[in-house]
Amino acid sequence: MASKYNCILLFGAPGSGKGLQGKILNSIPGLFHCSMGDVFRSLDKNSELGKAFVQYSSVGKLVPDELTLKIWADFMEKQVNAGRFNPAEDMVVFDGFPRTVDQAVTMQEQVRILKILHLNCADQNILIKRIQGRALIEKRTDDAKTDVIRNRMEVYERETSPVLKQFLSNQVVTIDASLTPMEVLSCILQVLVSLKK
Ligand code: ADP
Repeated sequence: MASKYNCILLFGAPGSGKGLQGKILNSIPGLFHCSMGDVFRSLDKNSELGKAFVQYSSVGKLVPDELTLKIWADFMEKQVNAGRFNPAEDMVVFDGFPRTVDQAVTMQEQVRILKILHLNCADQNILIKRIQGRALIEKRTDDAKTDVIRNRMEVYERETSPVLKQFLSNQVVTIDASLTPMEVLSCILQVLVSLKK
């Protein structure tokens, strides 16, 4: 992909609602949702990459940066080639990417980040309850065990939350993730509409 394409980041701890909001936003023409977790889960479980993903995610660890960045670049290229995403016109809504400072640095060589929407939740117990609830529905092995969830929360604090410091404060919009899905959506849409003006 030659020139930089526009994107916004849905940023927040596991269970903060990034995936739910991303899926809704994906149905709006001109927006393209890319969930890094979904990209990983769509890998063939018997392939080398698929096995590597399960090895890390099942214990709540992040997939190493080099692998993540390669899978991300390949995925985006495939979407362009398949005509699902038009870099000249569409805006990508990234969810779960970048999750480390190094990912953020490399990513910014290729994309133009217009806003970071930080879905912030002061009460970690709310997030843990949501994750355990979806484990039953989505059959995600990394969601079912409390110690794995706790580990993901710690990894978020240690490795992902420093990514926010990479951006100017006026690039980051903080949204209360404990609000209802509709209220969170409304906050996000306000930001997106103001970007279009
Ligand atoms: P959640 O919705 O709980 O935030 P995701 O579905 O986004 O979780 O991600 C599931 C798992 O996939 C993560 O715990 C991690 O192992 C891996 N993963 C997802 N995105 C990234 C990333 N950007 N870098 C490294 N690993 C990632």
